[in-house]
Amino acid sequence: MSQSATIIGGSMAGLFAANALCQQGWDVSIHEKVPVPLSGRGAGIATYDELADLVYKSTGNNNVLGTSAKTRISLDQKGEISASYDYPQVYTSWQYLFSVLRENFDNNNYFMGDDCTEIHREGKKVTAVFNNKKEKQSDLLIIANGIRSELRSYVDHKASPQYAGYVGWRGVVYEDQLSQVSLETLSNYFIVVLPFNQQIAAYPIAGEGKDPFKKGNRRINWIWYKPANTKDLKSLLLGNSGQQFVDGIPPNEIRDQIVKDLFKEAEDKLPPQLIELVLKTSQPLIQPIFDLESDKMLNKRVITIGDAAFTARPHVGMGVTKAALDASSLSEYLKGDGYLEELTEWEASRVKSGKFLVNRSRLLGRYLSEPKKKETLIMPDVTDVLKDTAISLKDIKSDARN
Ligand SMILES: Cc1cc2nc3c(=O)[nH]c(=O)nc-3n(C[C@H](O)[C@H](O)[C@H](O)COP(=O)(O)OP(=O)(O)OC[C@H]3O[C@@H](n4cnc5c(N)ncnc54)[C@H](O)[C@@H]3O)c2cc1C
Repeated sequence: MSQSATIIGGSMAGLFAANALCQQGWDVSIHEKVPVPLSGRGAGIATYDELADLVYKSTGNNNVLGTSAKTRISLDQKGEISASYDYPQVYTSWQYLFSVLRENFDNNNYFMGDDCTEIHREGKKVTAVFNNKKEKQSDLLIIANGIRSELRSYVDHKASPQYAGYVGWRGVVYEDQLSQVSLETLSNYFIVVLPFNQQIAAYPIAGEGKDPFKKGNRRINWIWYKPANTKDLKSLLLGNSGQQFVDGIPPNEIRDQIVKDLFKEAEDKLPPQLIELVLKTSQPLIQPIFDLESDKMLNKRVITIGDAAFTARPHVGMGVTKAALDASSLSEYLKGDGYLEELTEWEASRVKSGKFLVNRSRLLGRYLSEPKKKETLIMPDVTDVLKDTAISLKDIKSDARN
């Protein structure tokens, strides 16, 4: 009889694990708490050869994953290129990748509206209990429910998200909404600009309709990191309705004045192409930046993967690739009969890799939080930022990268 796994969380990590385990003949079920299809999370995702390989290995999909840009540049305030670095890369969108990973599952093994609230272990079985009174018993339970996971405490009760001291303002604009002159830069490059104590990055990603990678149909994705101490964050997360949000705020609750302030700051600090991009974004989003480290990813038959185990800040651009690596390496370790013993080896290697990425992401984002009293903030050289942001693991010079 085949082994069975219950996967909690139907996003990137959950779907990579489900695809990889299915390939090994495991019987899997995926349980996602959100009751409607997860399709509208419009972020851009930088990809690497290793991610494309893992997508192919786990889904059989060999298609190009997104749009590409060969060169990374920085711009001065007039919009002229002030630094450049050749690093050909493919950029996809969360929705596109999700659709590729989701394709292999139907409603008989991908369940929406299943919010897992408890986990029970009895002998060689583990049971997930959902708030809709459903229960699911299996040989293994995989917690893949993101940075805010409460279930993580079944594996590592000490790990908790840490606020980085800055937020990312984000948005996407369709290419056909931008002027030709701005498009010449925005559609061809990965762009990084460093206002003091800040960073903004922009690059083209897939569109949403037919022919999503064709120039003209694509979107330009941007993220602007700005310091926000805990008091500023509280103010940013105070909603239109008067509700105080804590970790993030629904777009429709973001107060108009805050967006006006952002647009004004864009006009003061950014090159013209990025001013246009930011101002043409109908609804910018606020993403407070958190990171998370765990010491453990395994407790008998319960495992954490993806952001639920380690969340690096976005500068390493590695969240999805790391989730894919967690899942594919897990499926390799699950091949043998005595897999429970071998999983401790898997855990040690993934914990080492997760800590490495979180630490690297902290280093890359060190100049984006408010400087401490008496601390002089030193901005990095923009060429180093172009060289270090969102690069493949094989291009990072360190023994600890795997
Ligand atoms: C601004 C920004 C830019 C980024 N850029 C990149 C990039 O360029 N490249 C890259 O690789 N990564 C990037 N990332 C990171 C990447 O988006 C994440 O690492 C990745 O989405 C994590 O996937 P996950 O499945 O582990 O978690 P999530 O995507 O958070 O999914 C968790 C899922 O679990 C569900 N869930 C939660 N609780 C329960 C429960 N109790 N029961 C059932 N389901 C539950 C949630 O609804 C959700 O669908 C970026 C992140 C940010 C914030």
